[in-house]
Amino acid sequence: MTTDAIDTAALDRALERLAATERLLIALDFDGTLSPIVPRPEEARALPEADEALQALVAAPDTTVVLVSGRSMASLEHVSGSPAHVLLVGSHGAEVKDDDGVHVELDDDERGRREALHRALESAVADHDGVWVEGKPAGFAVHTRRASDEAASAARAAARSAVEGIDGLTEREGKGVLEFAVKATSKGDSLRTLRESTGATGVLFAGDDVTDEDGFAVLGEGDLGLKVGPGETAAAYRVDDPAAVAGLLARLAALRAAR
Ligand SMILES: [Mg+2]
Repeated sequence: MTTDAIDTAALDRALERLAATERLLIALDFDGTLSPIVPRPEEARALPEADEALQALVAAPDTTVVLVSGRSMASLEHVSGSPAHVLLVGSHGAEVKDDDGVHVELDDDERGRREALHRALESAVADHDGVWVEGKPAGFAVHTRRASDEAASAARAAARSAVEGIDGLTEREGKGVLEFAVKATSKGDSLRTLRESTGATGVLFAGDDVTDEDGFAVLGEGDLGLKVGPGETAAAYRVDDPAAVAGLLARLAALRAAR
């Protein structure tokens, strides 16, 4: 499907159906969906029309609005301005902020494994100069950027061998950092949890990026998946850009309020 082929009539019918659902969950990616992509990520802001529509939606009955982002919670709070009564989900689902504050979504088993991971990593890197361990919502990161190449590689090997006995770890290596997490989070997992906790009977999920496909994959009948911009997608509908998303959210708010 190309963007030329956007069927606005079909999308409008889908919006009308969704607006009539009993409990509505609106889950939105931030960058490239509510905010245009900008060169400096910390300067990204939702379009004013999008912010306005979000406020209208949170005021609508039986409607929950949530921003689901790959950004860390601190970063998502900064760029979104943490709008009132809008749930925030950061780090692809590992961090959740509601009206009561920020929670890290770990069960008892995951918390136990995170503690074991912490102990294992601290002792593994203790003897390596310029290497330190940083806490992450669902795990820990071993930083090596201040270490010599040799020390960094020795520290990585020591860290990997120290965590061998801990089940279900996800490993991610970046520049000067090796991260271990006790749970693999995705926008799909996040949407499933949100659907359950809100008792939603219909879900709108909108996103522009590859990681949003995990979200589209868990949508079902009565939901509406909205891909923003070009690219392969499992979403049933598509719009061109954040301005079109803002227009669609305003339309949904009006329909929901009139229901
Ligand atoms: Mg995005």
